[in-house]
Amino acid sequence: SLQPVPALGRLGTESAFEVLARAKALEAAGRSVINLGIGQPDFAPAPHIVEAAIRALHDGHHGYTPAAGLPQLREAVAAELETRAGRRLDPDRVLIVPGGKVTMFFAILMFGQPGVEIVYPDPGFPIYRSLIEYTGATPVPLPLRESNGFAFSAEEALSLIGPQTRLIILNSPANPTGGVTPAEEVARLATGLAERPQVALLSDEIYSRLLYDGRKHASLLAYEALDERLILLDGWSKTYAMTGWRLGYSYWPKSLIEPAVRMGINSFSCVNAAAQFAGLAALTGPQDAVEEMARAFDARRRAVVEGLNALPGVSCVEPGGAFYAFPNIAGTGTTAKQLETALLERAGVATIAGTSFGSHGEGYLRISYANALPNLHSGLERIGRLLSEAK
Ligand code: PLP
Repeated sequence: SLQPVPALGRLGTESAFEVLARAKALEAAGRSVINLGIGQPDFAPAPHIVEAAIRALHDGHHGYTPAAGLPQLREAVAAELETRAGRRLDPDRVLIVPGGKVTMFFAILMFGQPGVEIVYPDPGFPIYRSLIEYTGATPVPLPLRESNGFAFSAEEALSLIGPQTRLIILNSPANPTGGVTPAEEVARLATGLAERPQVALLSDEIYSRLLYDGRKHASLLAYEALDERLILLDGWSKTYAMTGWRLGYSYWPKSLIEPAVRMGINSFSCVNAAAQFAGLAALTGPQDAVEEMARAFDARRRAVVEGLNALPGVSCVEPGGAFYAFPNIAGTGTTAKQLETALLERAGVATIAGTSFGSHGEGYLRISYANALPNLHSGLERIGRLLSEAK
């Protein structure tokens, strides 16, 4: 039989999609499954966003757009990012992509090759490691610890940089932990990187608008000294509840935007035109729906953390952002994967083993609270029942 090149064997996957498929199969067989596995908002985009896409279709926007994206959309993204950066940004350095993952793909492909080291968060979004391994580069995990609220430590990240390090990947607010990097740590990292000019940064800020308890998003974009090294990843998927639209944006160093656009031309040509018009309406229109969604997530976050902490053998630190809780399940006497399987197959609750996010995720489970409160309560009840039976 035909075999792809060996490098493809090193490409990993995202087990959230496998858990989702199994949950759907169980449901199709008549079982009730509460899905606390998938990481997508259970909200619809605001009506003015959907209307903008429909209008674009009626107005005849069926052709290719410029490869880097509609000029007006790139300008709107630059304006949006300027509030985060506190300085002027260049719309010509914005690339519109079909989802945040594509920025990740391009950035890691740009730096990864055998002999190079890439530092990435563990536990973290599984695609980082998958892509690093695909390129033949050496993945260097940056452990995120529960004792530190899963926040990133600049000191530890800097200590992992060696002569071969070419890229550091950061993610705040974080998947799968909900951890948030404090502004002081971002500042420390920026200072430390000044002495290490060979290192580029990929800052995954896809959850930047989902922060709780008055936390403010600290972006690496605020550091002008890093301007020529920072690749910023964000998009519409989480903020505007548009995961299925496949729409994201990135901001590139001046020297890298041209190769990034060329990678786009070699892969997707341009992003779906109607989706880009929707994205423009999302950025420039009213933001009430975003705030409303964040408030709903906050209420669920409190309920889930409280519910998890009441379970036998489980303890959960408070996540500061995104829509995930990452409870410690070491006290249940099972591994993360065993618990994930038992919960899905026996209790009808889809969750994701912490080990799906790296070896430092052993002893943890990812619970997505992007689900309605009554479902979250029933899910917690089902988990509680299974854990009590196991005792
Ligand atoms: N980055 C992180 C940390 C994520 O959790 C996700 C989605 O789950 C993405 C990027 C990808 O987002 P998109 O759906 O826009 O490709």
